[in-house]
Formats: sequence, structure tokens, C-alpha cells
Amino acid sequence: MSHVMNTYARLPVAFSHGDGSWITDTEGRIYLDALSGIAVNTLGHNHPELVAAIAAQAGRLLHTSNLYRIPQQEQLADKLTSLTSMDEVFFCNSGCEANEAAIKLARFYGHKKGIDSPAIVVMEKAFHGRTMATLSATGNRKTQAGFEPLVSGFVRVPYNDLTAIRAIAEHNKSVVAVMLEIVQGEGGIQIADVDYQRGLRQLCDENGWLLICDEVQCGMGRTGTWFGFQHSGIRPDIVTMAKGLSGGVPIGACITAGNAAGLFKPGNHGSTFGGNQLATTAALTVIDVIEKQGLIANAEAVGRLIREGLMDALSETKGFVEIRGQGLMIGIELDRPCGDLVTRALETGLLINVTADKVVRLLPPLNFSVEEARELVSRLAQLIRDFLTA
Ligand SMILES: *Cc1c(COP(=O)(O)O)cnc(C)c1O
Repeated sequence: MSHVMNTYARLPVAFSHGDGSWITDTEGRIYLDALSGIAVNTLGHNHPELVAAIAAQAGRLLHTSNLYRIPQQEQLADKLTSLTSMDEVFFCNSGCEANEAAIKLARFYGHKKGIDSPAIVVMEKAFHGRTMATLSATGNRKTQAGFEPLVSGFVRVPYNDLTAIRAIAEHNKSVVAVMLEIVQGEGGIQIADVDYQRGLRQLCDENGWLLICDEVQCGMGRTGTWFGFQHSGIRPDIVTMAKGLSGGVPIGACITAGNAAGLFKPGNHGSTFGGNQLATTAALTVIDVIEKQGLIANAEAVGRLIREGLMDALSETKGFVEIRGQGLMIGIELDRPCGDLVTRALETGLLINVTADKVVRLLPPLNFSVEEARELVSRLAQLIRDFLTA
């Protein structure tokens, strides 16, 4: 531990194995996992089909390089473009890399239009990653402090405020794109209004801007549709994804359509590991299981049950502010910082997270059952009530 760089305030627990939504630590204690490794373990732990597919692929080929064709990558690109009604996919290994690809594409697009210093409109409270460009796009000073000079070319506006972006359209002629999370994850589970999403789409069309949706956390069925933007029926020009895509094997994807497609040529971008046989086989299997088992509908139904259950249990409790969320992406806002709840939950055998200081965040696996949802509601409501009345 002492030689691991101190970049995470880690909880004093390590896990040895898991089964579905349940995970066992090295001391044999069992926990209900309502976080899925921050929206990564889409099918929970130790899913038999995913384990078998990964093991079989590992026994044939793990990796060959993007210098050669990779049939599984081609199949996954077909699948993702069909799910999004988009055109092309670039594969990488993480969310920040997918966003780097999106930012490079937007700049490239701008230069092609003759804009020498292209700018991207980004949101307050946004989170896009930890690389230099993505932390510059992120709307949180804590993520940026100490790493200046930041990458230039980002213009920040409040979330869900179309007027602010309209004003920029009038005076800033170097804007080439708008980038946002349809549901902000780290920002505290904030949801872009349907009208706002449609207004943004229209504004982007009018100005020739690319609409970039960072679906790294809210994509992959989590909100009760394959992608968050599908709640409003818009089609972005660029969609980025990562976290839940391969159920735990590192992967990222940057999906493009329309004006954003066909821009990169060999030499413009790349990734050594991106889209290798192991990662893309895992993603194909995760998508297949989601489809066969109706897990998107499950996310919607079970998510609703959790939100309603918590609302019933907490609405009268002093200090409770509100519950936000779609599907299995849920935030419970309290009136005070509540980071302590994470440790208290851990002690009672429950994995949750707190983000934006005051928001309890739940991101259970998409195959979370009704019984598990009831168990989660009863344990968490008790914890929050105790915390608020202490
Ligand atoms: C987690 C996250 C990222 C960064 O992903 P990494 O894989 O950690 O680089 C980017 N955007 C959003 C919305 C995220 O939730």
C-alpha cells in the first residue's frame, strides 16, 4: 500500500470475490453493492456469461494491435452505431481518453472550417476526466488546482441554461462544439431538461456546432434507455462512453455521426490497446446479456422502486433535500456534507458513494433485483435517518 501513489482516499477494505450484487471482503464479510465500482460492473460481479466469454477469448487472443483488423471491434462498432443511430466508433481504454478523442475531433472540425483557435462550450459542475484537456473541460476547481496552465479553448456556462449559450453564439465566433453530460455524475446527479437538450440540438444545428454528449457514466442502459440523450429523442454528433461498456474490462469509445464522422484519417489519432479482442469481446457480451435479459427495462423499473421507496421513507425527515435520478443513476441530496455516510454504510455491509459533498450516489448493477432494491432502501433509509437526526 505504501508504494501506491496516494491519489485516492481509500476505505480500509479489500474484496476477494463477488456474486451478482453481493461482494465479499478478505475477512469474509458480505456487502450489498449499490455502486458497481462507479457504474462499471454493469452485470454485477462474476456474471457467468461474461466470465465465460472473457476466459474463452483469453484462451485464443488477448491483443493483436490496431495495425490489423479486429473482427470483434468491427462487430462492436456495428452494434454501438446501431444503438445510437450514429456512424463510426474510435476505441480507447477509458472515459478521459474517449473525451480526449472527442475534443480533438471538435478542434479538427473547427480547423477544417477555417477557425484557427476553436473553442468548446462546457458546463459548470461537469466532470470529463483527469488528463490535461479533460480536467480543463471539467467544471470543478479542485480537479484543476495546481495543474495550471490549463488547456485553453473552453468556455464555461451554467448547466441547463440555454440563454447563456445563446449569448455566446452571438459574440463568440470561434465556438465549434458544446460538450455536456446528459446526467452529471460527479456533479451530483443533475439531469439536463428535455427542452434544454432539444434547444441545444437546435442551437448547434443553427451555428454549425457539434453536440458532444459525455455518456461515460450515464450511458450503457443506466438511465433506463441505452443512452441518456435518448430520453429527449435528440441525436448528438459525438457520444463518448467507457465505464459500464465492458462490465469491468477497461474500454472507452468515441462515437460519431454526421459532420463529426469521417474526419480522422490514419495518423490523426490512435491507441495501442484500444478496442482489443479481450475488451471488445467483453463489451459484446455485456450488450448481448442486457438485450436478452431486458436489463434496460429492469433499470427503469428497479430504479423507480428505489427512488419511490426512499422518497416514502425520507420525505418527512429534516435535512433531506431531494432525490434526483433516472433508472439506476440516483442521487439523494441532503442539506449538509455527508461523506461520513460512506463509512457508516460500509460498516453495515452496504457499498454507496457520496459526491458533490452532499449527494449520496447510487449506481447499482443493471440486473439489481426487486428484493435487492427493497433491501437497499431499508438499509439506506435507516442510515440516512440516523445520520440526519444524530
Ligand atoms: C468517470 C468519468 C469520466 C472519466 O473516465 P475515466 O475512465 O476515469 O477516465 C469522464 N466523464 C464522466 C461523465 C465520468 O463519469
